[in-house]
Amino acid sequence: MIVVMQEGASEAQTQSVIDRMVAMGFTVHRSTGVLHTVLGGVGPEEGVDPLELELLDGVKEARHIASAYKLAGRHFRPAGTVIKLGDVEIGGPKVVVMAGPCSVENRDQIERSAEEVARAGLRIMRGGAYKPRSSPYSFQGLGEEGLRLLREAADHHGLLVISEVMDQTQVPQLAAYADILQVGARNMQNYNLLKELGKLRKPVLVKRGISATIEELLLSAEYILAGENYQVMLCERGIRTFESATRNTMDISAIPVVKKLSHLPMIADPSHGTGRRDHVPALARAAVAAGADGLLIEMHPEPEHALSDGPQSLRPEQLRELMDQLRAIAPVVGRVI
Ligand code: PEP
Ligand code: MN
Repeated sequence: MIVVMQEGASEAQTQSVIDRMVAMGFTVHRSTGVLHTVLGGVGPEEGVDPLELELLDGVKEARHIASAYKLAGRHFRPAGTVIKLGDVEIGGPKVVVMAGPCSVENRDQIERSAEEVARAGLRIMRGGAYKPRSSPYSFQGLGEEGLRLLREAADHHGLLVISEVMDQTQVPQLAAYADILQVGARNMQNYNLLKELGKLRKPVLVKRGISATIEELLLSAEYILAGENYQVMLCERGIRTFESATRNTMDISAIPVVKKLSHLPMIADPSHGTGRRDHVPALARAAVAAGADGLLIEMHPEPEHALSDGPQSLRPEQLRELMDQLRAIAPVVGRVI
C-alpha cells in the first residue's frame, strides 16, 4: 500500500495515518520528500480498501501496489534517492565514477592505484579484499589485511572506499573499513547477507546476478530496504547470454529500465560487463549516455601483473582519457562529472 500525503499535511495528520496503517497490520516505511511525504505500507493488501486511508485527513491518495518491490519502486520516492557520503552525492546531478583494481594485492599496488584514482579526479576507490573467484585455486584476496591497506591508501589521497562483502559474518568488518559495501553478482540472492545489510546504516551497492532478471535485482534491493537501510544503489555488470565475444553481455537497457521502475541510483560496471579493456571505454560512455548515476571501473597500475581481472582493467592513462570523454558526454544528457 502506498499513501501519499498532501503537500503541507501536518505531522499530526501523518502520524495518525501511520497509526491507522499499523493498526491494519502494515509495517510503515516513511519517505519524506520535498513536497510530499510518502508512506509505504508492507503487509496485508487483501481485504484492505485504500479508500479507508484516502479519506483520512491530510491524505492525497492511497493505492495498492501490485509490484512485489514496494520500497524499491519509484512510487515510494518519485524524486529519486540521493545517497550522501560527505560531499559526494550518488543519484544527484553528478555522475560518480568509482575506480580501482579488482583486488587489493599489496601495499605498493594499492597505494599506486589510489594515487592514480585521485589523479583522474575521482573521489571513490574500489578494491576487493574478499574475492569470489570461479576457481578455488585462484587468488582469494587478502582479507582484513587487504581492507587495512585499502583504507590506508585511500586515506592518503582523501578517497572514499567501496569493497565487497561475501557473507553476513563479514558485515561488521567491512563496515569498519569501507564507506560502501558491495554485494557481488554471485551473492545477489544471498538473502541472509541482504537481511544483515538491511540492519546496517551504510550505503550498499547490489550487483545484478549473472542470470538475474531486473525484477529479481529489485527484489534483492527490497530485502535491504525492508530492514530500513534506505541507502541502496544497484549495478548492471553484464549478464550471461549465448554471446561469447565478450565475457558477459552488458545490458545497457537495464539502466533506463531500472531508472523508470525504481528510485534507487543505478551504477554501471563496464569492466565485468565486457571483460576486455579495449571495450570498456565504449560501454562506459554508453552507460553515461543511457542515464547511469555512476560507474564502477577496474583500473590497475600494471594490468599485466594483476592477480585478478587484469585483461579488463584499464591502464591509468586510459582512465584519464575516458574521464575526459565522459566529461564531454554528461552535459548532453543533463548531467555533470
Ligand atoms: C568485482 O567487482 O571484482 C566482482 C567480483 O564483480 P562481480 O560480482 O560483478 O563479478
Ligand atoms: Mn573484478
